[in-house]
Amino acid sequence: MDKVSISSAFAKKRTVWIKTFGCQMNYHDSERILSHLQEINFTQTDDPATADLILFNTCAIRDLANSKFYSGLGEIKKIKGGRPDLLVGIAGCISQTDGEELLKKYKHLDFAFGTDTIDQINEMIYRLYQGEHKIFSNSQDNRSNYSIETKITHGSLQAFVNIIKGCNNFCSYCIVPFTRGREKSRKIAEVVADVRNLVLTKNIQEVTLLGQNVNSFGKENGENLSQLILELEKIEGLRLLRYTTSHPKDLSDELISVYKVASKLSNHLHLPIQSGSDSVLKRMNRGHDTAHYINLIQKIRSLRPDIVISTDIIVGFPNETEEEYQATIDFIEKMQFDFIYSYAFSARQGTKAAQMADSLSEDLRNRRLVLLQNVQVEIQRAIRAALVGKHFVMLLEGSNSKNGIKKWFGRTSCHRLVHVKMEDDNSNYQWKWVEVEIISTTPHSCQGKFIKFC
Ligand code: SF4
Repeated sequence: MDKVSISSAFAKKRTVWIKTFGCQMNYHDSERILSHLQEINFTQTDDPATADLILFNTCAIRDLANSKFYSGLGEIKKIKGGRPDLLVGIAGCISQTDGEELLKKYKHLDFAFGTDTIDQINEMIYRLYQGEHKIFSNSQDNRSNYSIETKITHGSLQAFVNIIKGCNNFCSYCIVPFTRGREKSRKIAEVVADVRNLVLTKNIQEVTLLGQNVNSFGKENGENLSQLILELEKIEGLRLLRYTTSHPKDLSDELISVYKVASKLSNHLHLPIQSGSDSVLKRMNRGHDTAHYINLIQKIRSLRPDIVISTDIIVGFPNETEEEYQATIDFIEKMQFDFIYSYAFSARQGTKAAQMADSLSEDLRNRRLVLLQNVQVEIQRAIRAALVGKHFVMLLEGSNSKNGIKKWFGRTSCHRLVHVKMEDDNSNYQWKWVEVEIISTTPHSCQGKFIKFC
């Protein structure tokens, strides 16, 4: 390609197809990538065959996401074969650690960048259009301060706002501290100004504060999450505030006390326990035991009796005994979680758990997972059934049709998914706040009756 100026390189309208794997942080990063690309005349397409740029935002944590990425990358090879001008790139956690190797291995891959170099994407694209090949950028941001402005491209009333990146905890199974680096927080003043701006200029009404470990927010600045929540509470126009993900070791009494006064704070807490066995928690290097976790939940429930608690569980951690596994089953029965994200352990290279001798077979892990999920489904069935007749307020996010019946859906403040049939199938109710009454339930969702707009 001829050498051209930036303005002429990006005068042409182009399209990007982006596939995101993994956690909310990755979806948030993809939003940021798209926002940058908009500045150089790219719009998003859902057709990879006609896109000018194909991007995979990868996840190193889950096996399924990992294998889907590799099979997707293989598929793209056919498209690239007939279209030499097509650019193919990877971002995210796999790219951070293995990007350089993948660039060598996959001829049709043009560039790879890590989690801290997202803001350089336009420069990388420009260099590629200038004729450079195989660009790799995974440097980590070593500045002591962490400062960004949230970038969003969608017309939704919901936004993710990153407040802390990295993690210092080094759970023995987790690759995050190696892919995302050490904890670094934004300053409260910056986050508040950012959210205020989103509310004023983009009409954002629901914000989810994001970080690998939001409970550690602000430590290096002498600030904390409870102070941030209380400041955000004051923003007029902001209606709902969520945060994720928490760590039981770092959830402070001060943060718990906020549940008493923060009326905009969601009535849901996702608090990963990972195992109901103290000996497994120790091998996981979680830094807390089940008694500590139970104590936290009791304190929160004393302030908000109807708060919804959800968790993450990993079954089949190396050498998990029958007794240890049974302790997890007993724990979820005792705690009555509203929902859980559950996984069979799979080793991540570079972590301590990957070096542990392990006597468990994959088959046993999968059987334990299915059994645990069956127990949880029955818990959820009973919890959801008890919701019939209750009223909730929620933001309608979208609609779908089943058996010719169109329904709208949204999540309550307590994060429960509710489907509701609205009066007029031809009207657009997206981003309307509504009150619904629950009329029937399944273990995973609720059907609601529209009561009123609010
Ligand atoms: S706290 Fe979460 S992100 Fe940090 S190491 Fe543990 S599992 Fe990974």
